[in-house]
Amino acid sequence: MESEKISIREPMTGDIEEKTCCNKYVKIFIIVFIGLVLIAGVVFLFVLFLQDDEKGEDGNGNEDKVEPKYEFGLSMEELKKRTSKDYLGTISLLKANSPEYNNLQDGDKKALVHLLKAAMILEKIEYKIDDPHNTPFKEFLEEEIKKDNEQAKLTKILFDGQKGINALDRLSVEVNLAKGHKTLPGIGVYPEDLTQEEFHKILIKMLKENKTEEVKNITNQRSIVLRDGEYLKAVDYVEYFKEDFSKMADEFEAAANVSTDENFTQYLKFQAQALRTADPMLDALADKKWAELQDTPLELTLTRENYADEITGSFIKNDELTALLSEKNITPVTKDNLGLRVGIVNKEGTDFILKIKKFLPDLADNMPYKDEYEQDISEDSIKQTMVDADLVYLAGDVGAYRAGITLAENLPNDDKMSLTIEGGRRNVYHRQIRFGTNQTEIQNKLNEILDPEQHQYYDVEADHWFTIGHENTHTLGPKRVNDKLGEYSSIIEENKADMGGLAFVNLLTEKGYYTEEQRLKMIVTAVVDTFLKVEPTLAQAHRVRTVMQNYYLYQKGAYNITSDGKIHVNIENVVDAAYDMLTEIIRVQIDNVFEEGEEYVKKYFHWTEEMKIIGDKLQKLNSILNSVVENELADKLLSEN
Ligand SMILES: [Zn+2]
Repeated sequence: MESEKISIREPMTGDIEEKTCCNKYVKIFIIVFIGLVLIAGVVFLFVLFLQDDEKGEDGNGNEDKVEPKYEFGLSMEELKKRTSKDYLGTISLLKANSPEYNNLQDGDKKALVHLLKAAMILEKIEYKIDDPHNTPFKEFLEEEIKKDNEQAKLTKILFDGQKGINALDRLSVEVNLAKGHKTLPGIGVYPEDLTQEEFHKILIKMLKENKTEEVKNITNQRSIVLRDGEYLKAVDYVEYFKEDFSKMADEFEAAANVSTDENFTQYLKFQAQALRTADPMLDALADKKWAELQDTPLELTLTRENYADEITGSFIKNDELTALLSEKNITPVTKDNLGLRVGIVNKEGTDFILKIKKFLPDLADNMPYKDEYEQDISEDSIKQTMVDADLVYLAGDVGAYRAGITLAENLPNDDKMSLTIEGGRRNVYHRQIRFGTNQTEIQNKLNEILDPEQHQYYDVEADHWFTIGHENTHTLGPKRVNDKLGEYSSIIEENKADMGGLAFVNLLTEKGYYTEEQRLKMIVTAVVDTFLKVEPTLAQAHRVRTVMQNYYLYQKGAYNITSDGKIHVNIENVVDAAYDMLTEIIRVQIDNVFEEGEEYVKKYFHWTEEMKIIGDKLQKLNSILNSVVENELADKLLSEN
């Protein structure tokens, strides 16, 4: 509570006069008594004010809000199409009664229920972080569904899949389920009407008035930013979502009481603490413990990743603001979206993934410009754990189907404090997401787009091997603690991971990690998978770099298009081309100059004739636009408990 607010509530003094007068002890007594009453009154008013204020700021409080009026963003016709089986995919997470669940010990089965309850709470929190209209719009839909409104029922199917009112579909088209509502540049963490220009103006004013701490809090990754008169103020997530965060902490602690694994139990306790007290160091300790989890029966991750907020990173476009920030040593970080992954660790899948670990020092040794930065990897200390997880529930950000759900994640990201206290990273691979595609669909696709003599080398499992290389490359290369690449930062980092995954295929084959057949499959599959259905927007980091890679590979002769419009991969050129691109990327990351990053991305982000030929065919082959996730096991456990 800031001091200027207390002063608004000055006690009313001055009109207290002595009316009666007895002896001076009585007088003193009366004065002291009145004084005490006054103090009590002030304290009472202050407490009232505090409560009032918290309610106002706290998303959990009962603000009196005006009943919002919404209109449907999609027509009945469009909704019927998008929810029909040709256009709506289904991703099935772990089934009820699956052996993976049945084989758990009783304590872990009980712990799993608590983790799922925590996931339900997180779901609510992330709705708010993602967009201020998600929660009221969801309530509106639920009301309309009670009245048997068909349009509401179909809209709700898409809402549940994309976990929010706005998302991109598989063709990079923005789907807005509430009419007139588009994705906000400051998502749900900045005032809805705040523009980048106004944001810059206010921060400049605040910095000039030496409100350095306030600006630091506004521009960190873990605060909700509110208007405060002509200024802005930040409320840490832990404070803003206090009620829900502590309920989640309760569930984590309840899970800790029954979990059979000591390390997992410890992590749960650390994580619960971090949810109760707003202190980045507590998160760092939890993250550090989390990154060490390797042989636990259960998988739990609180994902904190920042890709969606466009306001915080926009400071880079304003020279005056950039200069002021650097003068005060402030590096803004875009806001975290939150997710919670609940799963069961798959032993067999994990063993295969783990085998790459012993080759990481070799990869580090072969990284471009390796002498210009310090590697996280050395022979004796590899701070990297990896698990293959059977998914039970994906809450919030990690489970939102927005043109897809990611195949794996390597966390924490570079902006997190745990990396500064010797914390490592942990890779989690999503089994049920990669098992999503069916064989007939794949064969139909190959018949249309790949030279028949190379069909034997296309294998979805190769995608998984490639992902292993991708995730591990995130751990290699220069640390990006003081990243100045702004909006290009994620694109370049993902580009690095992809090219690392491909550039080291030959080396890892020589070392015996991949077989020759796996090598060929990885190369062909990786090149084929750089073809997209449509040109992405610059905001889609994960797709922009795919286009850049396709462009680069083509320039280096890694593939050509046959006369009948099919891809032919020139296998012998691919790995060298990938290494060349990796070299350019590492240079840009080491130099760490915004303009250089921008120039690099623009140089290779071109949608070419070749991409269009294949993209048009891909569009005709697979019509899926949106998807929903089924969580049979989670639903069953939650309904029984
Ligand atoms: Zn990645």
